[in-house]
Amino acid sequence: MCGIVAYVGDKQAYPILIKGLQRLEYRGYDSAGVALINNGTHTYKCMGKVKDLEAHAKEQSIEGHIGIGHTRWATHGEPNNINAHPHTSMKGKFTLVHNGIIENYAHLKKELTSRGFTFQSDTDTEVLVNLIENIYLEQNVSAEIAVRVALSKVIGAYGLVISCEDEKDKLIAARKGSPLVIGVGESEYFLASDASPIIEYTDQVIYMNDEDVAILSKDDLVLKNIQNDAQKPKIQKIDLSIDEIDKGDYEHYMLKEIYEQPHSIGDTFRGRISIDKTKIFLGGIIDVMPKLNQAKRIIIVACGTSWHAGMVGEYLFEEYARVPVEVEYASEFRYRNPVINPDDVLIAISQSGETADTLAAIKMAKEKGATIIGICNVVGSSIPRETHAGVYTHAGPEIGVASTKAFSSQVTVLTMMAFMIGRKRGSLYDELYKQLIHELTLIPEKIEIILKSDSYIKGIAELYKNASNALYLGRGYLFPVALEGALKLKEISYIHAEGYPAAEMKHGPIALIDENMPVFVLATKDKSYEKIVSNIQEVKARNGKVIAIVTEGDETIKKLADHVIEVPDCHEAIAPLLTVVPLQIISYHIAVMRGCDVDQPRNLAKSVTVE
Ligand code: GLU
Repeated sequence: MCGIVAYVGDKQAYPILIKGLQRLEYRGYDSAGVALINNGTHTYKCMGKVKDLEAHAKEQSIEGHIGIGHTRWATHGEPNNINAHPHTSMKGKFTLVHNGIIENYAHLKKELTSRGFTFQSDTDTEVLVNLIENIYLEQNVSAEIAVRVALSKVIGAYGLVISCEDEKDKLIAARKGSPLVIGVGESEYFLASDASPIIEYTDQVIYMNDEDVAILSKDDLVLKNIQNDAQKPKIQKIDLSIDEIDKGDYEHYMLKEIYEQPHSIGDTFRGRISIDKTKIFLGGIIDVMPKLNQAKRIIIVACGTSWHAGMVGEYLFEEYARVPVEVEYASEFRYRNPVINPDDVLIAISQSGETADTLAAIKMAKEKGATIIGICNVVGSSIPRETHAGVYTHAGPEIGVASTKAFSSQVTVLTMMAFMIGRKRGSLYDELYKQLIHELTLIPEKIEIILKSDSYIKGIAELYKNASNALYLGRGYLFPVALEGALKLKEISYIHAEGYPAAEMKHGPIALIDENMPVFVLATKDKSYEKIVSNIQEVKARNGKVIAIVTEGDETIKKLADHVIEVPDCHEAIAPLLTVVPLQIISYHIAVMRGCDVDQPRNLAKSVTVE
């Protein structure tokens, strides 16, 4: 959460910062701000989005070859002009942008207050910048030492960039728990929360590690850690193109990403399924295959949409690999002293690879001796660097805050893993293994077929756009899809929605059903088909409106439901990859019709780097 961008070099910093902040806006959009260093520090910041900042900075002095910028997702203090970053210390020596939370800020604030410091904002960030200034002035040390000493007193997470009035040619950056990437140009450096603001200028980057401190001037980069030990910068080439982060002709990133799924799923299995479609090879987990083969248990930890993907994984692993699986919310798991054994394998799923709770759960399980596998989308992010092995989803950058293609790619990876492990463990026989692989490779073209129903689905959205509540029902592999469908509707259209295992409806939610309640039922042909048909009858008997996702040609449900959305026939183990698509589309259209900001829904941000 929160986007940071910074520049030092010969170019004008302001346009680089603004463009970078626009690219990072998916990470937070409560407020935006920049500070430009040019005969003093000029800070412009305001509540709202980057376009509001541009209007605010118009006709101001925006000259400067060094600058820092921030787009905020508020944790401490409401979104307003004063709490917006950058924050400047009381005596004006330091200006800071920060991503993360300083957990002991209250204690530090008290101490600083007793030393005469006063504060303008409610943020933890302003405490940090004053702590740095206090050390700098009291101990008469360089800016870099003041930063390092201050950070040694801080509990919490940060990605930060700071400038000092007395060392005008420099920026200092540091990270712990929140990502920062350095872009290396010719006599210039860039800093950003991810590589998207950088790619236009250079493809050479350094991913900062936890506790790294970087001191950057136009011609020099010094990398060390908080303890002052020199670190060797590891320059890597970014594997990202501008096209991938452009909206193209689509009205929203979310729609673009929904439409990208045939391609992104194809990218997920490219090179991992043999040309003759008879074998799966996940190179990233080969080293831990012996552990996986003997695992007594698989624990899947994740948050949000990734947790739903994890639940699909649970059904798949238990069915095909015959390993007991637990799916855990990372935030609960990490704090409840779970029983973890060295023969457990923990699979952590996170689109960004930065999810704070998931990262903490990994560290805990690692300490207890478990083998850790990551499933992440962002290459070089923190989770892949913490795990023993992993599989990238290769879905390409996902910018819409509501996850779509990342979900389907995570499910694709889990599906491949379950089949591969099942085969290795001997619980999946060869013929079925080959059939399942073949089915999986057909998914992209089947999604293309579903996408052709977009305008038909939009027509259904029109009928339910004013609903106050919605219910999503599914069984087996499609129960997690029901959860995911409900989450999509909630997060972008602000309609209250709940996903339930269809049979559980009778134990409570059925009381909510009346003629105003749309009920989305995942009812493709699988082993619980007859049962889900009965559940549809139960909803209809109470006048609920049924929108059923069915296998093409299903005449039975057509007669019962108010609307059916057909998806191509497929094996039930793979059905989540198809059935989720109409639910994504319907949520998208409902949100647009309700005038909601689809790509940047209120209160949310992508990449949840705070716990
Ligand atoms: N904790 C800081 C604040 O509330 C930074 C939040 C962020 O990461 O955007 O201002």
